[in-house]
Amino acid sequence: MRIAALIACAVLAAPVPAFAADHLVADPAAYAAAVKKAKPGDRIILRDGVWRDFQIIFTGRGTADKPITLTAQTPGGVILSGQSNLRIGGEHLVVSNLVFRDGYSPTKELIAFRRDSKTPASNTRLTGIVVDRFTNPDRRAEDHWVAIYGTDNRVDHSWFAGKGNGGVTLAVIRPKGQPGENRARIDHNFFGPRPPLGSNGGETIRISTSDESLSDSRTIVENNWFEGCDGEVEIVSVKSGGNIIRGNMVVESQGAIVLRHGNGNLVERNIFLGRGKASTGGIRVINRDQIVRHNYLENVTGTSFLSAIAVMNGVPNSAVNRYHQVANAVIERNTIIDAARITFGAGADAERSAPPVSSRFDRNLIYTASGKDIVRVEGDASGIAMTGNVQSGPPPKGLTGFTQSDIKLVRAANGLLYPADPALANVGAPRDLVMLKREDAGPSWYPKNAAAATGRTLDAAPGALAQAVAASGPGDTIRVAPGTHRITAPIAVGHSLTLTGPRAAIIESAAPTLFQLTPGGSLHLSGVTLSGAAASPTAERAALIRAPQSVSILNYRVSLSDVAVRDTADVISTTPGTFAEDIAIRRSTFAKVSGAVVAAAAETGSKGLYSAERITIADSDFTDVATIADVARLGTDESTFGPWFAMTGNRVVGGGAVRLSGVQNVVITGNRFDSGQGIAIANSVGAPVVRITANVFAATPEPAITRLYPQGTPDIVLADNQMEALR
Ligand code: CA
Repeated sequence: MRIAALIACAVLAAPVPAFAADHLVADPAAYAAAVKKAKPGDRIILRDGVWRDFQIIFTGRGTADKPITLTAQTPGGVILSGQSNLRIGGEHLVVSNLVFRDGYSPTKELIAFRRDSKTPASNTRLTGIVVDRFTNPDRRAEDHWVAIYGTDNRVDHSWFAGKGNGGVTLAVIRPKGQPGENRARIDHNFFGPRPPLGSNGGETIRISTSDESLSDSRTIVENNWFEGCDGEVEIVSVKSGGNIIRGNMVVESQGAIVLRHGNGNLVERNIFLGRGKASTGGIRVINRDQIVRHNYLENVTGTSFLSAIAVMNGVPNSAVNRYHQVANAVIERNTIIDAARITFGAGADAERSAPPVSSRFDRNLIYTASGKDIVRVEGDASGIAMTGNVQSGPPPKGLTGFTQSDIKLVRAANGLLYPADPALANVGAPRDLVMLKREDAGPSWYPKNAAAATGRTLDAAPGALAQAVAASGPGDTIRVAPGTHRITAPIAVGHSLTLTGPRAAIIESAAPTLFQLTPGGSLHLSGVTLSGAAASPTAERAALIRAPQSVSILNYRVSLSDVAVRDTADVISTTPGTFAEDIAIRRSTFAKVSGAVVAAAAETGSKGLYSAERITIADSDFTDVATIADVARLGTDESTFGPWFAMTGNRVVGGGAVRLSGVQNVVITGNRFDSGQGIAIANSVGAPVVRITANVFAATPEPAITRLYPQGTPDIVLADNQMEALR
């Protein structure tokens, strides 16, 4: 097939030999020479292989019909690794089918649409580019992966995932004092998982900055797929005017599309599928002349600024970087299904005292299976004319323009829910909405679950476990053979790794740490036995799994499934400056643990930092375990979503203390505690949720719930718990 195509090309090319030429290059010097003499229509082709530490400068002047192209010998065959980056300057250029992996940019911009401040790119296209975890290991070091300067540039069918450090994934940049129209087009890209950054600066897309926000960029962001874009509260941060955000899929992403600065933007036909994931948001409206219409939001859980629709209060005579008053907003025919909240006047306070004016909220469809009213007014909503809205719950108090209806929804061929009643045909999102297919975003040749797809399976006999881990790569699984694996020095784990084996595969630690995670490491254990029995009693407080010892951008995960653990101080020990995105324990047994199974109280400052976002402990047995979990988030900061703690279906005999301070969401249900120390919960500020239900406390004290501060509104339910005397 390929030979036939080459012959066909040769035959076609034969009559015009003086024109377009392909230059296959194998090293940076040959590349530079080829760029220098490239003519319109030429293609510079990087030979397949790994190009390490290659800082590419691609310049030239093509024409609309005959662009100059930089590409790979085969799509995905060229890997740019190490300290590599790309600068593009000129016009009518195309860069395609390159992969950035295993490294990070030595500069503040990985891919820049300019060679330098005097040489931007225009009419240039970046297509089929993969940036796969090409991330600076210092979470505080900021860089942008793609910086679009110039005009009429396009980024399409590209793949971006795994940015762990600060800085925007893709930014449209208007240099100070150059607020012209960019007319950038960003379409059919796959924006894959971006972990929570834990601060501002984790946006996936940002268009301009507040300084230049009062003019039009006219950028179009359409038909992109956002998945797990959890970096911060803004997934797309619009900071200019005249932009269109259209037809995008926003799937299980924490955050919102935010019309932060700039006027006259259009947000339409986007589909948000929160799937019940925490802090999944919708669209936040600020400034003048914004249109939000024909969007579809299902199962988004965010409230306040992350509401399905949040219309903010502004600041009177606002500075350009604060909040301009909402005026002339049109919010019409959106469908909002099983969302947690719609908020008008969001953020109203002494500074943000200017309510929305001259605005409309019209013919929106609001459905909740629970029949709840989800509309909240935090300020004065009288400047928003509400008409023709239909909702399943009771009309919001104090508002007109909402009709309560017994809405029956039917899932249509496009995968979206619509009311069965033909009388509601003109309420909510239109019938012709299209869900972008996941396979139509990003390049067809790069798998969207790359980490899982690349894993190999290795074997480790007794005596060979440390070597097997050292030889493993991201996503690998090591089968641990039955027998005793005596470990005398900590085993470093610097990538996602699974160890699986039978209970008879006993990993016995003679060191104060068994598994030492390093930045980028995650550990999943299945089936095996862990024992600290051989550790010296005089050693430092032992832990079987220890978080990285240095500050890291890379959040880690630990899971234990069907694992037996015995004879240690701590099992999972967190450290300051590192962040566990998920700690999950299922169907495991723990015996003789003198410290904590999950020691997550490492952060001690008052800034609201904490060590683990989500902790799940389920269907496990704890015998003679001093502490099951010690979790702390200190201080009075209200801007974090976690920690979350869930403990369900466990059996605890003796000890088994659970200490939770400042945890935002606690579920403890269906557990049995025998002769235990009990549960101590200290609630902080904000609105923490505590559910303790259907537990048996036998010869165990009742849960003790206290408040650390007078402010805050904890929501506490204790129900169906059974107190028993010792049998
Ligand atoms: Ca931000």
